[in-house]
Amino acid sequence: MKEFDYIIIGGGCAGLSLAYELEIHEKLINKKLAIIEPREKYEKDKTWSFWKVAPHNFGDCVKKSWDNFSVNVPGKTNYLKCLNYPYQSIDSGLFYEKINNKLNKNPNISFFRDIKEISSKDSFIFNSVPSFKKNHLNLWQHFCGVEVESQKSFFDEGIFNLMDFDCEQRESVHFFYTLPYSNNKALIETTWLSRMNDNSQKDYDNQIKNYVESKLNLKKYKITYKEEGAIPLFYPYYEDKKNKINIGTAGGMTRLSTGYTFLNIQEHSKYIRENIENISEAKKYKIAKKYQYLDEVFLRVLDKHPEKMSDIFFKMFKSSPKTIIKFLSNKSNFFEDLSIILKMPKLTFIRALFY
Ligand SMILES: Cc1cc2nc3c(=O)[nH]c(=O)nc-3n(C[C@H](O)[C@H](O)[C@H](O)COP(=O)(O)OP(=O)(O)OC[C@H]3O[C@@H](n4cnc5c(N)ncnc54)[C@H](O)[C@@H]3O)c2cc1C
Repeated sequence: MKEFDYIIIGGGCAGLSLAYELEIHEKLINKKLAIIEPREKYEKDKTWSFWKVAPHNFGDCVKKSWDNFSVNVPGKTNYLKCLNYPYQSIDSGLFYEKINNKLNKNPNISFFRDIKEISSKDSFIFNSVPSFKKNHLNLWQHFCGVEVESQKSFFDEGIFNLMDFDCEQRESVHFFYTLPYSNNKALIETTWLSRMNDNSQKDYDNQIKNYVESKLNLKKYKITYKEEGAIPLFYPYYEDKKNKINIGTAGGMTRLSTGYTFLNIQEHSKYIRENIENISEAKKYKIAKKYQYLDEVFLRVLDKHPEKMSDIFFKMFKSSPKTIIKFLSNKSNFFEDLSIILKMPKLTFIRALFY
């Protein structure tokens, strides 16, 4: 059976980002890498968006970048600027193509469908397949997005809408998200933060249809692409082993209050590449403890008081855009954290410490 220095389980966002980072920094010249990925072919299946607070390798896969955004609750809209940290959307189709073109040129890198095809006993393993323990109390961010194309110019492509809470909440937390790629194309997403135990929340197609036709008042359009997903707002089960590191969602790279994962995956890949020669001894890379703690309290409030969340999010975005973006992207300092915390309803959050 074939043997490898490194095995990456799961050739999705984290697995491919890591392989690419190792390859472009020439860490695979004398090393053999196996990537285990069951999918038959790569095609666009996700749109990864984030505020660009750190450099990444995929500037040429950015579909669109914005310097302005809005957040709204019924009757109120807040317009914000993000010139220092533009919001970027990456097309996963371009990302897969770019990385696979590069990796395919290196004969030291091989793809397999199943780990059983190779021997893994002497390899260092990077695993991106999460294990979830069933728990009906876990919260998820679940959503469905469609790309729509209108016949005529309709969208303002200079500004995206991060959260529109002016919609049915169904005793949960629900908002729409609109990314206008051009004046006649946009990604429109319906997003729920919930325990995912209410199937009525999953009538995504109807929700989007009503939103597009009745709220946005767009009547003539076609749907050109659809994506659906659920991001765990809890950490997957993690097994500590000397020859294994979990990466991506499986490795705790999701910011639990927001679901943002993409840029954390890129920073984790960079950290692994910098420490690859001594990887089994390197300290485990984690999202800073303060964010884990603050997000846990935040999610307790969300779970207990879903009806308060639209106002809480709205108030959060009353901070300076630079501060809130840094906070949501794990880059804030103590004073910036404090200014966000002070915007929160104090009694509700203090009570949440004792739930
Ligand atoms: C539709 C969608 C949109 C998202 N949008 C954003 C966003 O805008 N911004 C953001 O920051 N985050 C976003 N996320 C969250 C996160 O960035 C993504 O989920 C990201 O793809 C996580 O990377 P990953 O490598 O951990 O998982 P994946 O990209 O899902 O990769 C895991 C891979 O493992 C493979 N696999 C499965 N089972 C096995 C097995 N048994 N053996 C080997 N391989 C296996 C899968 O085929 C897959 O390719 C989104 C998530 C989804 C689902």
